[in-house]
Amino acid sequence: MVRTYKFRLYPTTEQLEKIQFTLERCRLLYNRLLDERIHAYKMEGKTLTYGQQTNTFRERKQHISTLKEVYSQVLQDVARRLDKAYQSFFRRIKNGDKAGFPRFKPQNRYDSFTYPQSGFDLDGKHIELSKIGQVRIKLHRQPQGTIKTCTITVKNGRYYACLSCEVEAEPLPETNRRVGVDLGIKHLAATSDGQMFAAPNHLRNNEAKLKRQQKSLSRKQYGSMRRRKAIMALARQHERVANQRKDYAHQISKTLVDNYDIIAFEELNVQMMVKNRHLAKSIADAGWSILVQFVTYKAESAGRQVVRVDPHNTSQCCSACNKIVKKTLAERMHRCPHCGATIDRDVNAAINILSRAMRQVS
Ligand SMILES: [Zn+2]
Repeated sequence: MVRTYKFRLYPTTEQLEKIQFTLERCRLLYNRLLDERIHAYKMEGKTLTYGQQTNTFRERKQHISTLKEVYSQVLQDVARRLDKAYQSFFRRIKNGDKAGFPRFKPQNRYDSFTYPQSGFDLDGKHIELSKIGQVRIKLHRQPQGTIKTCTITVKNGRYYACLSCEVEAEPLPETNRRVGVDLGIKHLAATSDGQMFAAPNHLRNNEAKLKRQQKSLSRKQYGSMRRRKAIMALARQHERVANQRKDYAHQISKTLVDNYDIIAFEELNVQMMVKNRHLAKSIADAGWSILVQFVTYKAESAGRQVVRVDPHNTSQCCSACNKIVKKTLAERMHRCPHCGATIDRDVNAAINILSRAMRQVS
């Protein structure tokens, strides 16, 4: 399985110029290749393949000498990206989805390039990038497994290396425990054995800050330096919030995967929930889908099982006697008039999720 690590880079001025140069070469090549595909289709009614396009690279370099200053596999990856864009375009047509045709990349909208196999070498404080140099890297953790690809990205004026690594699955010892997880607003998650994971408040606070920055941005004059600075600050704050959400999801998902063999969630129907505008903000905030996603990939490498169940009535059904007990969102306790069960409403839902999962599994 593949795991991706993202590390900050600190390029020198010269390296920075080379990175920008590479991005611009890749962008122009991308647009050129797209143009050629469109043209070939118009003239001959056929789509050029990845192989046909990369076969032209040798000749291209003879005419455009600047291409020689970019690592050859990085250029090939540009053709691969375009090919992927085409494939997903065809897939969307086939599925009857709204199909956006691959687009030309305007200036400053091409923000990454990839070394797909070689041309990079990681050693401690530096990463050697072919045609760019020894770039200082901040390894805040040691990547596991074999590094397969290295993608250099620019985001909000900062530079990163994303290393995707092939790691061996490492099954965790069985615990003989299983858990149902109710995802909520009051708590981000409540488990069938009564554990609560609070909705992240620090995220809320930082969102308030985000709002203030948004407001201050709107007061700045168009085209001014102060406005540009405010845009950058806002983008970084967005990034900060996204990172915090991820960190939190990493913590909870690790706890769940370490402690349970089977982890059950409700099937998330985010689209439906986002329609309910009152809930929408909290959902985006709570980051449910990120949590489910993290649990799912961690479970895969740990040999755990993730089960998704039908969410219908999980909060209304009594987990003790299975009768329906209607309650509003404001009622925090489940009190069953039929069997007398009294329990936190989210824990009640989590128990229902678990029992549905167990029926599904057996
Ligand atoms: Zn009951």
